[in-house]
Amino acid sequence: MFPLPIEREDLITALASFGAELPKDTKMPVDVLQKLTAKALNYSQQFDELFALKPNTKLNPNSFQNWTGNESLTTAMHVVSMEEAVLGSSAPLSQLKKGARAPKENIFTELRQSVMGLGYAMDMGKNRVYFTGENNDWLIELRIVSVQKVDDRTPMFVVNYKHEEKQSGDALAPTPGYTPVVISDLERRLLLALWDMNRARLDSAFQAKAKSGYKASIVLPLGSIGMKELGELTGDTGCAVCGKRSYSRCIQCQSVTYCGKECQRADWPNHKTECTSLKGATWHKVTFSDLPGAYYSSINRKDPLSGLRRSGATETASEEGPPCGKVFLAKFQTPLGGGSTILVYDRQRSFTKNWVRKNSPDAFRLAEREAVKSGIPKIYRWTRRIEGNDYEVCLDRAPAQVPVW
Ligand SMILES: [Zn+2]
Ligand SMILES: [Zn+2]
Repeated sequence: MFPLPIEREDLITALASFGAELPKDTKMPVDVLQKLTAKALNYSQQFDELFALKPNTKLNPNSFQNWTGNESLTTAMHVVSMEEAVLGSSAPLSQLKKGARAPKENIFTELRQSVMGLGYAMDMGKNRVYFTGENNDWLIELRIVSVQKVDDRTPMFVVNYKHEEKQSGDALAPTPGYTPVVISDLERRLLLALWDMNRARLDSAFQAKAKSGYKASIVLPLGSIGMKELGELTGDTGCAVCGKRSYSRCIQCQSVTYCGKECQRADWPNHKTECTSLKGATWHKVTFSDLPGAYYSSINRKDPLSGLRRSGATETASEEGPPCGKVFLAKFQTPLGGGSTILVYDRQRSFTKNWVRKNSPDAFRLAEREAVKSGIPKIYRWTRRIEGNDYEVCLDRAPAQVPVW
């Protein structure tokens, strides 16, 4: 599906950099990992939200007005999520771009910065850039044909691009007048995947207008991926035995998944030793609260802070939550340095709650101690919902295998 293949380890690393962490030893096949990566790229550019295309319809960039925003294109291409704004964790372009030698773990940041870089190029009056690797053995020429306006805050770059790989002997020379940008090989593969994916969604008449030898596509700002969407990406980590889509979870520990009874039975001798039984565990009753402003799950992350009011996100939604009585594994993100709130959510991010210290302080302290013991602020514990925002948490038993999500 991708124009240039990406190895499974790189796909897992890329997904983790998007925030969709899968177990390192996941057996999911490469094509599924590729699909998830394509989905992640798509969520990041919010394609479906921005265009809401009907089935079997294609996008015609000509049907949009030209970009007339007052702010610079560098700024317009720099979308910061609510979470990043609140945590102050979005690094500016100049500080993080490490090009060809950037660690793969930062690939998502690199991609976002390359896209911002196109805005910067336009602000500097340059509409032609080429991407290349350290050894100049491939290059991608990219011409920005126009900038259209999707909405007041979202520009759409209409581009023509051409990818070339060095054949033995002859040197690879970019067309004069193009500004070079050095990127890693993994970034090249992801950019081409993204542009090919967007290209396939363009009206064929529009595609045909590309400069000869080039392909037409569009480039949209890349933002961080929302909690719900991350939940969708990591909701199924594949059968522990064969990697196929999983349909069942070990009832006792909730920490491994299988495609069916056969694989589960085959894995039992293996899994038996690490399957922690909940028999005899202590359940603590705790009351969660809904997030004030629930920005983790319900706000369009491209909204400015004022969007909190506009979308009415301060209203409570305590009906939200997993079915009552069912045991599931929840993630507890404890505060560093003695804060007063723990963020709680499930693997699918079907709900996100706050646990405020003054609601059940003893259990809160216990949770903090467990986090200190584990050495990281995030712990996974079995939880069940009683009703409304009342839950029971089993703090004294941890899954033998630490899940990652
Ligand atoms: Zn299986
Ligand atoms: Zn188990």
